[in-house]
Amino acid sequence: MLSIKNLHASIEGQEILKGINLDVKPGEIHAIMGPNGSGKSTLASVLAGRDIFEVTEGEVTFQGEDLFDKEPDERAKDGLFLSFQYPVEIPGVSMVNFMRTAVNEIRKHRGQEELKSSDFLKVLREKKALVEIDSKLTNRSVNEGFSGGEKKKNEIFQMAMLEPKLSILDETDSGLDIDALRIVANGVNKLKTKDNATIVITHYQRLLDYIVPDHVHILYDGKIVKSGDKQLAVDLEQHGYEWVKKEMAL
Ligand code: ADP
Ligand code: MG
Ligand code: MG
Repeated sequence: MLSIKNLHASIEGQEILKGINLDVKPGEIHAIMGPNGSGKSTLASVLAGRDIFEVTEGEVTFQGEDLFDKEPDERAKDGLFLSFQYPVEIPGVSMVNFMRTAVNEIRKHRGQEELKSSDFLKVLREKKALVEIDSKLTNRSVNEGFSGGEKKKNEIFQMAMLEPKLSILDETDSGLDIDALRIVANGVNKLKTKDNATIVITHYQRLLDYIVPDHVHILYDGKIVKSGDKQLAVDLEQHGYEWVKKEMAL
């Protein structure tokens, strides 16, 4: 699904990612944890294709193809989904119409016909029920005046509609309350299939009380310094990042 090899990336000449290696297979949930400023959001941004970051070394393949050969919108159409810490608001465009356009763009990219209106509405109803989102929200303009929890709900709804192959959810610094954490976790758990994968980026172990990751990685100063299973997140919660530093002699 995703293969990252020796990825280095910089901003304004300063190296932030210093050789990341990561393999994600279909059906897997990975958690990336790490202290503030370790490069977690940078990694997500580089994968999404934000051009303020410069990739200086390494390679990334997504479903067997070179990710960096593709523009950000192509990556999305190929099935890469990124949550944003600060999602854009689009006044005057309802969520329903926004999703209709997005879903049909993706279908076109895959060589499928546009969904008939009645079929789209059927899918919409199913997905709304799945992620327990209310019509009051989906009929409103995209993200306009949404609370933090509503934005999260909306994000999970988008994930459900777009059926991405790989979702990268950066939950780090957004100060999610417990309800928002549950929304994200329920969404990830419900949308998991044997064919898709999720990377959850989180500063706190709390989220992993609800999502059980197959692999946990600790990012420290631009490198993955330790990987393990869900126990690693528990150990980290107990002993803190100082423990990792000591153990790894960092
Ligand atoms: P994390 O998400 O793990 O908290 P970030 O990826 O946001 O870490 O940041 C990693 C480092 O990159 C930090 O030192 C941060 O200051 C720097 N950085 C991130 N974005 C920018 C930017 N737009 N301009 C300058 N430095 C940045
Ligand atoms: Mg940060
Ligand atoms: Mg961050």
